[in-house]
Amino acid sequence: MQDPNCIFCKIVRGEIPSRKVYEDADIFAFHDIHPIAPVHFLMIPKEHVASLEQTGDVHVTALGKIMVLAGRLAAEQGADEGFRLIVNTGRVGRQEVMHVHAHILGGKEPLGPMLPRAR
Ligand code: 5GP
Ligand code: ZN
Repeated sequence: MQDPNCIFCKIVRGEIPSRKVYEDADIFAFHDIHPIAPVHFLMIPKEHVASLEQTGDVHVTALGKIMVLAGRLAAEQGADEGFRLIVNTGRVGRQEVMHVHAHILGGKEPLGPMLPRAR
């Protein structure tokens, strides 16, 4: 299933151009348009699902592939000494695009803290 109005579904269909990192039958990966780290790409299920709050059994293969392939793709993009995988979810997670996506963030230097600690 795809959502005709979803920008990430449009990227999967090639209706919005993107810089592709990887594609197979279940997932699509492409560089973030506004990178916040030297390596910053997104991995998404091809099947439209709005957020991690809405996933079910039909998404297991795609979400599993995202986790399993993240390290290989990160290394291929130059993040070969570690990276961060973030899935912003819902209002509290400050998710902006409502199609599940994992951010892969990395580079040659350690990233900033995950969240500032309240002291
Ligand atoms: P969120 O806050 O939902 O986790 O992050 C959405 C991400 O999608 C942002 O980092 C934003 O830069 C990226 N993004 C939004 N629209 C586009 C687009 O049309 N193309 C690409 N490549 N990235 C996009
Ligand atoms: Zn979508």
